[in-house]
Amino acid sequence: MRKPTRRTEGRGERVVPGIWRLRLPLPWPGVPHCNAWALAAADGIVLVDCGLHAPGSLSHLERALEQVGLAIELVRLLVCTHAHIDHCGQAAAVQERAGCELWIHPRHAHLTALSDDPEAALARRIEVARQSGVPEEPLQAWAEGRRGEGNGMSGPLAPDRDLEPGVQVQTDHGAWQVLATPGHAPSHVVLHQPEHRLLLSGDHLLGRISLYFDHGWTPDPVGEFLAALESVDGLDVRLTLSGHGRPFTDLPGHVEGNRALVRERLGAVRAALAAHGEATAFELLPGVYGERLMPATAAWLLTKTLCYLEHLEAQGQVRRLDGEPVRWSPS
Ligand SMILES: [Zn+2]
Ligand SMILES: [Zn+2]
Repeated sequence: MRKPTRRTEGRGERVVPGIWRLRLPLPWPGVPHCNAWALAAADGIVLVDCGLHAPGSLSHLERALEQVGLAIELVRLLVCTHAHIDHCGQAAAVQERAGCELWIHPRHAHLTALSDDPEAALARRIEVARQSGVPEEPLQAWAEGRRGEGNGMSGPLAPDRDLEPGVQVQTDHGAWQVLATPGHAPSHVVLHQPEHRLLLSGDHLLGRISLYFDHGWTPDPVGEFLAALESVDGLDVRLTLSGHGRPFTDLPGHVEGNRALVRERLGAVRAALAAHGEATAFELLPGVYGERLMPATAAWLLTKTLCYLEHLEAQGQVRRLDGEPVRWSPS
């Protein structure tokens, strides 16, 4: 008998005076929620991130805001930490309802390529998976599952301003500074409020440490991520408000935890490759992740493994052997 699925709804809570966490449900395995953040700003709010778009999803945001006495109409500015659909999917709907601007980092092609031409983007992902050694049968099954899936966006991404270092986001807590933190996504930024020692970290640092990197848009996303960890490591922060999970106080501990997990994964990729002698990225997955591959998460794990291999290649530790599919070997 099928278990009844627990109905999850948007929820709002005040974290500190003038800052509210809006917890919005996600339809993803292992990632049940994302956080949007409402920041008091004069007679309205700045909304940081806004959740994924799906049928009925705007009501989760409405409900979360309502629980803390707010409303979409109060949004004076929407800022997105990065162009992943769980952070900017409802941007068009919020812009329309609130009449507000959207600010996001300009390197958002990793999302807009997908939403502008979903068929081409899917074809490209299938080709990358094929080149990585994914067998044809599970690949076609995965691709079928993706076809006809909504793209998670309530409309085309239409930013009004580039959210880059030097830009400030004004709120009742003062100005938040933008730091570029690519790696998780090329468009990723974090927002730092120095006087109140607050950090809005998006998915760069999460409450529960987990890693993800967009593949194929920059030469070495893992290298970029490690460099971006350096840039937040020295910040004086008492509370970090992340894109998923609860706020946390120990920023240096989380930075170190992320570094350690990257080191561990790179070590696992090297060890799996040494055991195989040479292998495709797909053949390395069980050795690196030690779990039975689920179709829903295999694509994420493959993406990450490709990023680790490219980082090790940039470090001269592994070699790419030309051919189809691409095979890798220790240097
Ligand atoms: Zn993300
Ligand atoms: Zn996210």
